[in-house]
Amino acid sequence: MAKVIALANQKGGVGKTTTAINLAASLALLGKKVLLLDADPQANATSGLGFDINLEGIYECLSGVKEPQEVILASPDVKNLWILPSSIDLVAADTELPKLENAHRVMKRIVDSVREKYDYIFIDCSPSLGYTTVNILTAADSVLIPVQCEYLALEGLSKLLNTIRKVKSGLNPALEIEGFLLTMYMRNRLNNQVVNEVREHFGPMAYDTVIQRNIRLGEAPSHGKPIMLYDASATGSENYLNLAREFLKRNRKKAKA
Ligand code: ADP
Ligand code: MG
Repeated sequence: MAKVIALANQKGGVGKTTTAINLAASLALLGKKVLLLDADPQANATSGLGFDINLEGIYECLSGVKEPQEVILASPDVKNLWILPSSIDLVAADTELPKLENAHRVMKRIVDSVREKYDYIFIDCSPSLGYTTVNILTAADSVLIPVQCEYLALEGLSKLLNTIRKVKSGLNPALEIEGFLLTMYMRNRLNNQVVNEVREHFGPMAYDTVIQRNIRLGEAPSHGKPIMLYDASATGSENYLNLAREFLKRNRKKAKA
């Protein structure tokens, strides 16, 4: 049964999608069966893995006209990696979802219906704490939170953590924080300060692995490839493979505990 991990942060541009694509691909390359569910109407994860952003996907599943199995596609480049695509139609979800029967658990129903086929399911959230994101947090086992190394990085996180707390106290008591991931790190005083702050604040919940700023990571999506296939020797490739190993190690520890 897959573990379901949401990538969330209502701040845009912090590395959610980049992490979704490259952590999912790294785990697949390490032999895990991984589904990436694109739940952002911008469909950056869909296009970043080389798929058309006009395909039927998560919106059709949420509306009940398609079953996930009918729209999930295998990555042509990475064995063990699948995508449930998104499209711009998903912008309607925040207003349409609440009207559905058992509205809070629509995403959960979809995710649960394919759980047994994968080891991990990653859900790439849009930069919002709206209804769809809460639906995703209700469907997830844990939340992975990318934090960009920049001034005021911690600002806004309390809002996200509050939302997580609310979901945990009501709709999904089992929800956990998977980890905090520092992204777009550059070796300078400000960035080091942010790294230290995050480590002080969140302790071992912050990953040891830090994702460095790397131009190749920004280029790879326009080639429709994860970084390991676009430029295996890039720092970004090494960073995300290391993250995948740390992720697996932590999950093995949790499983034993
Ligand atoms: P989000 O999904 O949180 O909005 P993205 O993953 O789309 O953020 O990242 C925002 C932008 O920054 C994208 O153009 C992406 O290619 C770029 N980017 C993300 N991580 C890195 C990195 N480590 N180094 C360089 N560019 C990055
Ligand atoms: Mg994104």
